[in-house]
Amino acid sequence: MSLSKEQQVFTQHVALLITRANSMGVNLTFGEAWRTKEQQAIYVKQGKSRTMDSNHLKRLAVDFNFFIAGTLFYRHPLISELGNYWESLDRLNRWGGHFQFFYDGDHFERNII
Ligand SMILES: [Zn+2]
Repeated sequence: MSLSKEQQVFTQHVALLITRANSMGVNLTFGEAWRTKEQQAIYVKQGKSRTMDSNHLKRLAVDFNFFIAGTLFYRHPLISELGNYWESLDRLNRWGGHFQFFYDGDHFERNII
């Protein structure tokens, strides 16, 4: 599948994720989606990211802010539920809350490698 097609599938899945979140009473705002190499290098230098191979560079990742009853959360059982839902949509989908070495619960990606 071409990168453009992968990006289109990813974006369709993001639409499903937002709809599911809203149906659960979780309201979202966007953080970052596409990220430049220059910005990624800054994050690596600052320790906010550990890789120059981020899926944000390929338009295959998005970060969200989660509002539950008006309060901003990055860890919450409902967010874990959304992470599980995300991964159920496609075997290539990964939720950052399941990353092995650090918790990145606001991060949803399609990992094509
Ligand atoms: Zn991210």
